[in-house]
Amino acid sequence: KKEKFDAIVVGAGASGNAAAYTMAKAGLKVLQIERGEYPGSKNVQGAILYSDALEKIIPDFREDAPLERHIIEQRMWVMDDESFIGTHYRSDDYNKPPYNRYTIIRAQFDKWFSSKVREAGALLICETTVDELLLDGDRVVGVRSDRLGGEVFADVVVLADGVNSTLARKAGFHPELEAKNVALAVKEILFLPEEVIQARFNIKEEEGVVIELMGKVTEGMVGTGFLYTNKDSLTIGIGCLLSDFKDNPKRTSPYALLEKLKAHPSIAPLIEGGEMKEYAAHLIPEGGFKAVPKLYGNGWMIVGDSGGFVNAVHREGSNLAMTSGRLAGETVIALKEGGKEPTAANLKLYKDKMDESFVMKDLKKYRDMPDVLHTTPQFFTTYPELLNRAAKTFFTVDGVDKKAKEREILGSFRSARRLTGLVSDAFKFWRAFR
Ligand code: FAD
Repeated sequence: KKEKFDAIVVGAGASGNAAAYTMAKAGLKVLQIERGEYPGSKNVQGAILYSDALEKIIPDFREDAPLERHIIEQRMWVMDDESFIGTHYRSDDYNKPPYNRYTIIRAQFDKWFSSKVREAGALLICETTVDELLLDGDRVVGVRSDRLGGEVFADVVVLADGVNSTLARKAGFHPELEAKNVALAVKEILFLPEEVIQARFNIKEEEGVVIELMGKVTEGMVGTGFLYTNKDSLTIGIGCLLSDFKDNPKRTSPYALLEKLKAHPSIAPLIEGGEMKEYAAHLIPEGGFKAVPKLYGNGWMIVGDSGGFVNAVHREGSNLAMTSGRLAGETVIALKEGGKEPTAANLKLYKDKMDESFVMKDLKKYRDMPDVLHTTPQFFTTYPELLNRAAKTFFTVDGVDKKAKEREILGSFRSARRLTGLVSDAFKFWRAFR
């Protein structure tokens, strides 16, 4: 007789680990399959970890999770070629435990998370790729992999296989991934002594700063950059929509954008002397609410990036991934306890839980944002330039009277964009945020 599991989880990233942990902890028989050599081997990025989502899964995670720095200051910079105008928010409240956000190195973090999953009792098999879902009619009954003697069976399969979910597409659950709905991001980890990082960013041991970057650094393409402080390294990266890279007549590569960002006069002194040890490129689902596929069906659920759960405006992904994984796990537990089969009708509970959570509420709030950004390229070129120029005019003391300066600033906005254009852009922007 073939061995059967309560659940198979495909993927050992943030969402897969959350789902597998939740179910294993409740005593379910869980098999998790990961194609990487070890969990996290495919996820080499440094990143921001939002405590709340993990706390709901492993409340005492701070005891042994590999955390880099807790974040006490958030900067947002709008850049042109020479300068930036921005906001810094720093609070001593963020310096009091329990901390709200940390920087992490994903490879180490995923390894730790996975060790917790195994401690909870799940069986993890690495270096194994799931090739397809096994179907009995329209009911998913297991998976076929390139190892394990082929087929394994389970009551329910949780697809946590990341942004490029080929499994769901092969099974016809997912439409093709569209280039306009995914960003291609590249990032590097640059090593520097701890004391140098602390001096440059005005922080003490264990304190961290994150800088989100936008403006001309993406050369008019829809995208953002970032610079994060880890313990003895910095993570710097930039990402733009794949469709914009494809349509860009200049054929700019993500790597060229990153090099340009590193050379920016406001960035270069912060990263100077950093020794590059890791370079990674990865896709990020950024289609938002309108691009979310069907979340469940007979015997299956989709969690994490595979479901497109990324809030690009707030740069949140792993917390949406963990939350969706946890809710999928809790759904399976609830059905088991109620003696119910994981049919589509019963798995609707997962969607209900998602709709009630911040995940779908936040994605819904920003549902118009992708369209607005696609159709308003001036947010990434003209406006950053105008804002920086206005700041320069305003702050430069040169004998020109202040009224004349005001006129110059207003005039530069008007000449760059007609009044109707300005009003319509402002309205679009407001609508996308409402
Ligand atoms: P992944 O973490 O991608 O995990 C999927 C796993 O499935 C992988 O380990 C993969 O090897 C495995 N897999 C895939 N196919 C198969 C298969 N067929 N068989 C077996 N295994 C398979 N989020 C934040 O919250 N904060 C940040 O600061 C942040 N920064 C980011 C920076 C960059 C450059 C990028 C690319 C993303 C960032 N994100 C951030 C988003 C975040 O990384 C993702 O939302 C999150 O990792 C999604 O988790 P996941 O488990 O769904 O997918």
